[in-house]
Amino acid sequence: MTAMEELPLRPELRGRTPYGAPQLAVRYALNTNENPHPLPAALLADLQVALAEAAQGLNRYPDRDATALRADLAGYLTRTSGEPVTPAMVWAANGSNEVLQQVLQAFGGAGRTALGFTPSYSMHPIITAATGAAWVDGHRRADFTIDPAAATAQLREVRPDVVFVTSPNNPTGTAVDLDTVAALYEATEGVLVVDEAYTEFARKGTVSALSLLPGRPRLIVSRTMSKAFGMAGLRLGYLAADPAVVDALQLVRLPYHLSSLTQAAARTALAHTEQLLDTVDAVKAERDRIVEALPGLGLTSVPSDANFVLFGHFADAAAAWQALLDRGVLVRDVGLPGWLRVTAGTTEETDAFLTALGEIAPGHR
Ligand code: PMP
Repeated sequence: MTAMEELPLRPELRGRTPYGAPQLAVRYALNTNENPHPLPAALLADLQVALAEAAQGLNRYPDRDATALRADLAGYLTRTSGEPVTPAMVWAANGSNEVLQQVLQAFGGAGRTALGFTPSYSMHPIITAATGAAWVDGHRRADFTIDPAAATAQLREVRPDVVFVTSPNNPTGTAVDLDTVAALYEATEGVLVVDEAYTEFARKGTVSALSLLPGRPRLIVSRTMSKAFGMAGLRLGYLAADPAVVDALQLVRLPYHLSSLTQAAARTALAHTEQLLDTVDAVKAERDRIVEALPGLGLTSVPSDANFVLFGHFADAAAAWQALLDRGVLVRDVGLPGWLRVTAGTTEETDAFLTALGEIAPGHR
């Protein structure tokens, strides 16, 4: 057996571990923030037709520019945000992970620096390293919120080329207010990526950074169909930004990166947006039920605008994680001492989670 380190691996990848949320066969998989609700029957029927049609053209390369899909995504963003988003402002790829990778390929890379406010989405530093840039941890307050004064001071000192702010943040769940986003933009000369993977689950009053796009050509808002749309298996992420950003991404994207099947399936799903997003309110209600039940178990949580809850405190989070798994409930140990993260899904899942938590909480607080 050859060890990876014996290969002529790039030095900056040595000693690193891959992204590795466990994919275990458990009754209740509440660890990757998926939407557990089944897809609407009408969508499944339309997918059969659309995919069969697209299959007939598989001898040809797909539309390299995903023109029709980008128009549909622009329509969705315009409808839901009230901000005029044109197709030229939209770019799509295989999951927002690929969108973020393309952003880093275009604006990061060797000799450059990316900064994100830790703890946040673990893939931001991983993709940064894989594309050759250096990573700097941005600071948060003890309650995991971003202090605008401290954050802008850090940006002025570090001068990163790419800044990530995740809103709502993963794994903590809290959205970032627009004044803070605008202040971060002013404090950097790099691109500011607002990762809004969970924005559809935000509590009332939260506004998308899409409204900040006019006049801010270095601002990028990234989204995904993996969470609220319940289409994690589709692999479709997208962004909205100044058309010049979309032009820049053409320099690094692989030709024909989005298969015709993906484009057809995504467009079909978008035609069913309303039914797909019907589950969002139910998921938010389960999230709030989890939040409200925690104090009764002697536990607490971080305010959540997402489809998950960061909950604690545990004396030993890893031991609590294992105790829940022993009861068939898989949550996420995100490596924050004392805390675990659980995805909110169906009522049955919440019931199972709260029952298991009630059993283990007394011994693990
Ligand atoms: N951003 C955040 C904050 C996420 O939590 C995730 C998924 N866990 C992603 C992006 C990537 O999602 P996808 O590639 O499925 O679009």
